[in-house]
Amino acid sequence: MIKFLDLEKINNRFRDEIDSRIKTILDKGWYLQGEENEIFTQNFAQYCGTKHCIGVANGLDALNLIIKAMGFGVGDEIIVPANTYIASILAISQNGCTPVLVEPDINTYNINPDLIEEKITSRTKAIMVVHLYGQAVQMEKIWELAKKYNLKIIEDSAQAHGAGVNVEGEIKRVGNLSDASGFSFYPGKNLGCMGDGGAVTTNDDELAQKIKAIANYGSDRKYHHIYKGINSRLDEIQAAVLDVKLKYLDKDNQRRREISKYYRENIKNEKIILPKTYNEHSHVWHVFVVRTQERDRFQQYLSDNGIQTIIHYPTPPHKQEAYKEWNNLSFPITEKIHKTIISLPISPVITDDEVKKVVEVVNKYE
Ligand SMILES: *Cc1c(COP(=O)(O)O)cnc(C)c1O
Repeated sequence: MIKFLDLEKINNRFRDEIDSRIKTILDKGWYLQGEENEIFTQNFAQYCGTKHCIGVANGLDALNLIIKAMGFGVGDEIIVPANTYIASILAISQNGCTPVLVEPDINTYNINPDLIEEKITSRTKAIMVVHLYGQAVQMEKIWELAKKYNLKIIEDSAQAHGAGVNVEGEIKRVGNLSDASGFSFYPGKNLGCMGDGGAVTTNDDELAQKIKAIANYGSDRKYHHIYKGINSRLDEIQAAVLDVKLKYLDKDNQRRREISKYYRENIKNEKIILPKTYNEHSHVWHVFVVRTQERDRFQQYLSDNGIQTIIHYPTPPHKQEAYKEWNNLSFPITEKIHKTIISLPISPVITDDEVKKVVEVVNKYE
């Protein structure tokens, strides 16, 4: 069986380094808000090119904290793609704000910038872009709209650590394309820890201080509470694991790009629609999503031939029971995507033979 994602194999490559960092933490006996957090968040800020990085408990909290710190709440609208993972939308709802869904571009699966302006009202406060499946959103139009209507931009970078866009000949990484960005380090992400973890990156000094305080019971110093905060911290063990793995992120992303290129050049089956990308550095291939009409039959066929796949995601947020109030709304492109997509195995540890086998099996599908 070719596994969709072999997490054991992924992390075992770094076993000695991780062992030794965890041993140091055990020896020191310091588990939260310590040196490991300091080191990793500095290194991750540098990696993204931002002034600040704040470690938090998970990706959902990262987005939630950004919206809280920006001061948005009941009556405020935030624009978000309709086909995202539900966490992006939950972060908006959790703050009492209204998520305003926008259809994606069928070719990139990212928010369609041409459909945003018609959704902007006097209550709109921000646009949340999601670099879905690992592909950086092309930001030009979104930057223009934010300027024109005085809106904040929030990035959901949970799937795209290391992806970048070309800004006047220079590559700028996700996390550094907006007012603030949320990252997830859930184990299966391109940069994943051994449990839950997340981070916010930003260039805004004031926002960074505020997020740091809100994430730590609203305190700017011990037992001194200036906000009604929450508890959302990145623990020392996760920070250490992430700091080890960050060194290999570019190499891992490069391997994903190689596999993606091989798939895109060698999968030849008129029943299968391959993913498109702007250019090499804009995509880090968190998942390799193809589309096909009889998706469930294709998935069964792959499984019968020893290939494990996953659907990202089977049901769009507006059709979920949690958002009953939206169940009657229609987002045809989003719905079409959710009905036809399937993700083929891609990861830094999948072998050349496995990749070849996937291509052979897919090409034989009738
Ligand atoms: C994984 C993910 C999140 C949430 O991250 P958690 O760490 O699981 O809370 C948010 N948005 C997107 C697009 C994701 O893929």
